This record gives sequence, structure tokens and C-alpha cells, in this order.
Amino acid sequence: MGLKILRHVRDFSPIAAGTVGLVPTMGALHAGHSELIRVAASECETCVVSLFVNPTQFGPQEDFARYPRSEPSDFRLCEEAGADVVFCPSTEEMYPRKTTWIRVEGVSERWEGAHRPGHFDGVATVVAKLFHIVQPDRAYFGWKDFQQCAVLKRMVEDLNFRLDLRFLATVREPDGLAMSSRNTYLEAGDRAIAPLLFATLQEASARIRKDQLNASAIQQILQESRDRLASSGFDVDYLAMVDPADLSPIAQVCEGARLIVAARLGLTRLIDNCPV
Ligand code: AMP
Repeated sequence: MGLKILRHVRDFSPIAAGTVGLVPTMGALHAGHSELIRVAASECETCVVSLFVNPTQFGPQEDFARYPRSEPSDFRLCEEAGADVVFCPSTEEMYPRKTTWIRVEGVSERWEGAHRPGHFDGVATVVAKLFHIVQPDRAYFGWKDFQQCAVLKRMVEDLNFRLDLRFLATVREPDGLAMSSRNTYLEAGDRAIAPLLFATLQEASARIRKDQLNASAIQQILQESRDRLASSGFDVDYLAMVDPADLSPIAQVCEGARLIVAARLGLTRLIDNCPV
């Protein structure tokens, strides 16, 4: 097969001439990842995909041990989508010690950061390490993880990484559910309810956009959305309208305003977002 599989940091000296695109993933790849790889491969001479289930972004009670792992099918998907190189290091390779961390203050503290303490320190640290190892000209991420995009954008600015970040639209199942490696956890009954998460966001967004609503009318719509999800069986961690740059909650629509949500169905935690 044409795909080059690298497992060690030392193998990365120097990988290629021309532009290098990096698509960081935790494996268990689906059509959302495929799209990132396809775009990276079309825009860069060399497309590198990393497959690494990063332990430092999981909390102690989270699903690190049972996170789906599927190397052979991931390799096939990478090759079909146009990747040239796959980097799949062991935990020991990435973390011989765990002594240095990157923390992006402010933007990483609310929402996912509040519900998953330490999560974004793990994300920022592993992504910074991947940037150093692979030295990409462009790196590709999905808007699906909206706060993650904002955190990484801030990190790249603050630490002067010389690369372009590209953020791509969320790929969805035909019924609207955002594709996610964690969707495989959903039991049949919960899977049937799951599309309501995005449908509720879309409906709230349409209602907010329709009229020039005042702050209290917007709050009312957000609360009705939370109630609707709760009465359908979701445990809602948060549903809010936020400023896209710093993720602060906003009372009035601004340029780029986003609705973000995280909710649990049984043991599965789902996140999604949509523009207002
Ligand atoms: P993960 O493997 O879940 O860490 O995701 C790796 C990258 O793929 C991240 O940049 C995600 O935002 C992105 N991604 C995950 N799901 C989707 C999706 N449904 N559509 C587009 N990008 C996605």
C-alpha cells in the first residue's frame, strides 16, 4: 500500500518537500475525518494524519479505556481519502514524561473546560507536540468541536506557531446527527433520539434570527431548548449562545454568534453547535 505508517518521532526528519497538511485525530475514523483528510490532501503536497488516543485529554472517569480503536480500517480510510503518511505513536512515545503542559487561559475554561477539567490542557499540549513533530504548513480541524477550534486558534496566535489553521464544516448523518466516534456507544433507543440535539439548535437559531429579539426573549428560547432536550431524555450539561472568539456567553446576537450544546444520553456525551 502507498500509505507510509510511522510510529516514532525520530522517523519524521524531514518528511517531504512542499506543503505539509496535518489532520490530528484519535482514530475510529468516520466520514467527518475523511472529509478533513480529503481537503488536506487536495490542498497540500503531503497529507499527514495522526491517529493517537490522547490519554491526557480524558478525565479519570471518562472513556479512555473503552474509546474505539480500529487501526486496520483507519489505515484503509486514510489511504482512500488521499493521506500519504499516518503517524500512530504509542503513549510512551508521546509521553515519556508528563511534566510540561500548555494551558490556554480564558477560552478553555468555560463549557467543555468546566465539565471536563484538564481536557483542553491535554488537547493543547498534544496538538502543540504534533505541530513540532510533523511541522505542518496547515493543520485541519472540524467545527464540530467548536470550543477546541477557538482554543487552538488562540494557542497558535499566543505561541507564534508558523502554520495556517483550517476549520471545516461538520459532517452529519442523514438525520442530522453530527458524526462522532462516540456515536457507536449509543444504544438503539438513544440513537433514535440523538438527532433532536441538532434539530433543537437549528430551531432555536431560526427563532433567534427571525425577529430582532431582545435579550430576555433570547434567554427564553434557550431555556425552552434546554427543557425540550431534557423532556426528551437528554441530560443537558449546557446550551448557550456564545461569542465565537472567546466563548463568552452573549445576550444579543453578534457577528459569528454560535449556539453550543453538550448533553448526555445514557452514558454517551454528545456535543454540537450551529451558527445563529
Ligand atoms: P477526534 O478524532 O474526534 O479527536 O476528531 C479529530 C478531528 O476531526 C477534530 O478536528 C474534529 O473536530 C474533527 N471531526 C470530528 N467529527 C467530525 C465531523 N462529524 N465532521 C467534521 N469534522 C469532525
